[in-house]
Amino acid sequence: MQIAIDGPAGSGKSTIAKLVATKLGFIYCDTGAMYRTATVMAQRLGLDYGDEPAIMAALKDLTITFKPAPTGQLVFMNGEDVTLAIREPETTNNVSQVSALPAVRTEMVARQRAIAAESDIVMDGRDIGTTVLPNAEVKIFLVASVAKRAERRYKENVAKGIDTPLATLEQEIKARDEKDSTRAVSPLREAADAHHIDASEMTIDEEVDAILKLVMENRSAARK
Ligand code: C5P
Repeated sequence: MQIAIDGPAGSGKSTIAKLVATKLGFIYCDTGAMYRTATVMAQRLGLDYGDEPAIMAALKDLTITFKPAPTGQLVFMNGEDVTLAIREPETTNNVSQVSALPAVRTEMVARQRAIAAESDIVMDGRDIGTTVLPNAEVKIFLVASVAKRAERRYKENVAKGIDTPLATLEQEIKARDEKDSTRAVSPLREAADAHHIDASEMTIDEEVDAILKLVMENRSAARK
């Protein structure tokens, strides 16, 4: 079974996707972490974030792997733990440029489909329901107000000792949404058959329960 969860930056996709995967015993794939890792790679090599040929050449030899951990999921780049590095502001503010490169997307989509072929999966991102897994049994489009998303990012940052004003975070989120929604190749878009969930006023438990209910409904419909 495939569950696709898409939505804009900071809508809480990864928190919800992880919990749903744990409850169902499925694997979880954070596709944003893959684009972020490619961005860290470009940064380390001193490549221009728009230099598609150079990024593609480097990406060929790059392995990106996930490992479940009690603290969440660890992300490895060629065996190095980059879980924290991929969340640095430098990466967050440039990932949309790397993820807009068509060849990078083709490569990542192929990797994501290979991961999905191995197991029942919950995958989150921007184009999972529309492009990566168009036949996913359950598709969710998770949204929340910009204010709510900035507030969540602010709290996460404070916990990490990062002090960015709320207004700056709101601007950054809006800028990333704009870039992700207007790029030429598989932009952030709601699939026609996705369930739209506005999480602005919902608790995490309510969101997880809503998705589990859809999964159960899908399973009983498939049995009929
Ligand atoms: O989900 P997260 O915010 O970590 O994603 C980081 C960035 O990766 C997004 O802003 C977007 O540019 C890119 N992305 C994408 N397609 C996906 C997942 C993420 O383009 N499926």
